[in-house]
Amino acid sequence: MTPPGIHTLAIHAGESPDPTTGALVPPLHLTATFHLGTAEAGAAIFAGEQEGFVYSRWSNPTVEILQRRVAALEHAQAALATGSGMAAIATALLNIVRAGDHVVCAQAVYPSTYHLLDVELRALGIATTFVDATDWQKVARALTPNTKLLYLETPGNPLLTLCDLAALAHLARARGIITLADNTFATPINQNPLDWGIDIVVHSATKYLCGHGDAVGGIIVGGADFIQRCANEPLRYFGGVLSPFNAYLILRGIQTLPLRVERHNANALAVARFLEQHPQVASVSYPGLASHPQHALARQQMRGFGGMVCFELKGGVAAGARLMNAVKLCSLAVSLGDTRTLITHPASTTHSVVSRAQRLAQGVTDGLVRLSVGLEDVEDILADLEQGLAAISNF
Ligand SMILES: *Cc1c(COP(=O)(O)O)cnc(C)c1O
Repeated sequence: MTPPGIHTLAIHAGESPDPTTGALVPPLHLTATFHLGTAEAGAAIFAGEQEGFVYSRWSNPTVEILQRRVAALEHAQAALATGSGMAAIATALLNIVRAGDHVVCAQAVYPSTYHLLDVELRALGIATTFVDATDWQKVARALTPNTKLLYLETPGNPLLTLCDLAALAHLARARGIITLADNTFATPINQNPLDWGIDIVVHSATKYLCGHGDAVGGIIVGGADFIQRCANEPLRYFGGVLSPFNAYLILRGIQTLPLRVERHNANALAVARFLEQHPQVASVSYPGLASHPQHALARQQMRGFGGMVCFELKGGVAAGARLMNAVKLCSLAVSLGDTRTLITHPASTTHSVVSRAQRLAQGVTDGLVRLSVGLEDVEDILADLEQGLAAISNF
């Protein structure tokens, strides 16, 4: 039998009709604890001799359906859901590195990931070297004898630069180094890092997997042994578990993930092309544009180019602030992967607290605007950007 297609998996993977009621939709098991039955059954469950639910910090039936579904979409043996994307990243990291270990991390990663490695884990004795991971030779030079992990994000923050997953997985594997890729921007619909030899994938499920901006969550996917250990050790004892209610919302969202991503891809490409020819725009970064320096790599390792578009305004910080105030349909908000189009100008918002020099070193230039292109009619998104950009010059 041919394996099921991506739409089928998104709707059916990991679920079966509820054995007690026959409910077709996965029931929301809002319970902290579970009846153990008899003393003997309880003892057998605790001894690991019998399967069963005990306590929702250990496992929960609604959460387990989500885990099986994402594992199927990412072509993985197993998955573990967490209370946020950061909890997924922290749990995976704490399952890999110990004091004295070294991490090599792509320079272009989500800012909280950067902070977690640079500040929080450094304080625990785990050193990280950040490198330009678009160049595998720079990555190779940063590896040391005690490097345990190569941490990647592709497309990465903030400029949608790519890492060559196959080349970097090969490089790391030859030296016994674990590879991890944050696949939040691409989604399992556009890219499956495990297929390129990456060991572990993390997602902020808050973004495209949920898709509707109404739940925070995260998920780790990888080999069964790795996931089991994440569940039994760092997740259980640091406690960053997912609420069953959020698992229910994310499962609901995933059913339409392939449909939504198809449209995010199409809308973002149209927006990128529109911006590329606009006189107020100095440059556009979108992996699906021929002008993206790694377009060939994008075509090789991605099936679609995603919903995120970055562009640089000619008018710098002032122009960015004016555009934020002029847009009407696009919402001035952080986060991404929502049905709604979200727009941010890091220099005047998220990065206004750091020095200009530090911000520029992170690639956040004065006129940089980040768009999470939503699912609205593309004509409406383009019209809003058109009038917003016109407002800059009319100021
Ligand atoms: C949002 C995000 C995270 C963090 O996820 P939370 O759900 O906010 O904790 C990690 N990586 C990427 C790429 C993200 O966009």
